[in-house]
Amino acid sequence: MITRDSGPQPADFADVRATNLAVVLRHLRINAPCSRADIAAATGLNKATVSSLVTDLIERRLVREVGMTTNRIGRPAMMLVLDGSPYAAIGLEVNVDYLTAVALDLAGERLLSWRRSFTGASASPGQAIASLAALAKRAVAKMAHEERRVLGLTVGLPGLVDADGVVELAPALGWHEVDLRKSLLSALNEPAYPLLVENDANLAVLAEQRFGGQGSTGNLVYLAGGAGIGAGIICDGRLLRGGRGFAGEFGHLPIDPSGPPCACGRRGCLESLAGLGGLIRRALPDAGTETTASPSEFGPHVDEIHRLARAGDAQVLAALATTGRHLGHGISIVANLINPECVALGGYFTVLAPWLIPDAERELVARSVAGHGGGTRIIASALDSSAAAAGGAAAVLDAIDAGALPTP
Ligand SMILES: [Zn+2]
Repeated sequence: MITRDSGPQPADFADVRATNLAVVLRHLRINAPCSRADIAAATGLNKATVSSLVTDLIERRLVREVGMTTNRIGRPAMMLVLDGSPYAAIGLEVNVDYLTAVALDLAGERLLSWRRSFTGASASPGQAIASLAALAKRAVAKMAHEERRVLGLTVGLPGLVDADGVVELAPALGWHEVDLRKSLLSALNEPAYPLLVENDANLAVLAEQRFGGQGSTGNLVYLAGGAGIGAGIICDGRLLRGGRGFAGEFGHLPIDPSGPPCACGRRGCLESLAGLGGLIRRALPDAGTETTASPSEFGPHVDEIHRLARAGDAQVLAALATTGRHLGHGISIVANLINPECVALGGYFTVLAPWLIPDAERELVARSVAGHGGGTRIIASALDSSAAAAGGAAAVLDAIDAGALPTP
């Protein structure tokens, strides 16, 4: 029998309580230190409710008291901050030439940041899973040694990942239909903490939102520049995943039907024009990228392009301007669709951003229907190459902030 939803149902007490605990936690994440009265005034919850919620959060060791303040109008008040010292959130990334691990405490402080070289382009999925599991075990063991409980672990990779953590396609890694989440759960002996798998750019945009200094903007795009170009999109405050989790394939926007071949088998996709391969072909025509076996070998070329750009080399500056125009063309399509407040250039784009942004902005403004590019700003990401792993850990913190609190 088909039943119809009869409309909003009254939330039960436990739901309201969990929601309010998360409201207090989020308020403290942004505003701490603050008092119970500050929280009540800012959230609209009454003081007795806030006191009860704070007691609960202190028992869960998510919040702690840091002493009285007298530096304020009115009575001295006990100030509160996020605690979270008994907890850790872990993010891992597997990419073509490295594995990274980042652990954060509840307040977002880094507990570890590891990077290992890795031959992702030639390793089999089984070898990659074994290496990822070994890295995860070491990170979890280090947290256990510090008497921290792991609240969750998220793995990022450059590919299409569905809601069950199955990698449908990761061209740079040579993966097709790899059930990464299930394999990792098995390799880690079915851990008690939640384990998720996500597209790397989707994780990087969560890190950019939390740590990138753009404030609390709910409309943000992170572009991961590499051999390909991935996009993580936060639209109206939510990560845009799409029906099956495959949203954000910015690199395959069709820009020029007569353009160069793309790794996806089509021609003239944005990443065939503005990805690292295209930039190196234009900037360093003698570099011979056609014969380069792995995108990991691009690093020295980026360093060389950066050096020559700083020295004012005309050929390199022209190549960067062309790359910036292609990027701006792609960004204008996203701007016309979802009107982001900010587009952060990550990956190899970050170091080259001063030479990419002026032409990208001109192209964005010229192609946007809304005046001035709809107000979309293009900036260099503040994050380094650990962005996706940091975002993996941030995804765990986001789940806590949304109400998935650890039990006392
Ligand atoms: Zn393509």
